[in-house]
Amino acid sequence: MDKRLESISQKALSGGDIGREEIRYMYDYAPLTSLGKIASEIARSVSGNKVSFVSNLILNYTNICNVRCHFCAFYRTGKEDDSYALSEEGVLQEISKYYDRFGITQLLIQGGVNPSLDLDYYVSLFRAIRKNFPKMGIHGLSTSEISFISRKARITVRELLPLLVEAGLETIPGAGAEILSDEVRKAIGRPAGSGKEWLSIMETAHSLGIRTSATMMYGHVESSLDRADHLIAIRELQKKYRGFLSFTPWNFEPGNTKLQETAGISHRAGGETVLRNIAISRIVFGSLLPVIQTSWLTNGVQMGQLAISFGANDWGGTIYDEKVIPATGKDVGNLRKETIVQSISSMGMTPVERDNLYREIRAYSS
Ligand code: SF4
Repeated sequence: MDKRLESISQKALSGGDIGREEIRYMYDYAPLTSLGKIASEIARSVSGNKVSFVSNLILNYTNICNVRCHFCAFYRTGKEDDSYALSEEGVLQEISKYYDRFGITQLLIQGGVNPSLDLDYYVSLFRAIRKNFPKMGIHGLSTSEISFISRKARITVRELLPLLVEAGLETIPGAGAEILSDEVRKAIGRPAGSGKEWLSIMETAHSLGIRTSATMMYGHVESSLDRADHLIAIRELQKKYRGFLSFTPWNFEPGNTKLQETAGISHRAGGETVLRNIAISRIVFGSLLPVIQTSWLTNGVQMGQLAISFGANDWGGTIYDEKVIPATGKDVGNLRKETIVQSISSMGMTPVERDNLYREIRAYSS
């Protein structure tokens, strides 16, 4: 290990803040295997031999969206034959197909920014989900959806969030973070100011005691410094309230997206980039943000397993019914609990089933 990485390693292991240039160095020059060793050591000190997972269902209740990000293959304008918006009854029916059968404890419910849906729809929907499926935590709505609902209802996000929580919302996913830099967001077709808005909505949620997740989408037009700034912004917010429960770095899927043409990106980032992002996230966040997810959904099961050796300590979920990634043409499939348990065990780790709030439900002995 060279001197620079040695000093980064010591700083990270003693809980110090890794700086912007140090993060850039890890992205651009550090050997991947060395990063993996440092990240694994940190992960062991944070969560020992345990790797968690959740039995979850992802429900994309509408694909109609007026934001139209260039990296998204999922959205429809509302005029296409395959545009949809599920009614409350439709959502409940969809959940009931999985809830008892697979012991679902987390519902990740997200969709497009559909201009015809208002606050009453969400309040009534969350209440009905809560009533009918009480053992499941609702992990719902991106910051784009939250921002739109508040504007449509003419109330602030600070006023909106307690209403959603009272109706049944438990936590908020990290979707919409992509890369927080304004310049990058402009290039990938995100509205101006939406990076600051993501941070501001997350901060509002945390200040109200609502826990959320954080994400980063890499592998498009961003630079190493853009990634560094993104990680640092999340770390700084985490210091204020410790509101982020987990961090998931996931790679851009170019299939069927406008960004594929405009930025000339024909392939998703390779395995080296996937593992480097996992390892650097772990090194930067240390024990401050204790859970780093493998994101097997975009990285695949094999990369999910390797990510465990590069500092990830949460597998993510079983992910029944997800529709966003399949829209890019990538065949995802679902994972049964048994497959996840086996995937984690075979890496020499102890699989632990958790709930939406990362509380342990059951540890599986090998
Ligand atoms: S990523 Fe979300 S906000 Fe952007 S177009 Fe797709 S559904 Fe809409």
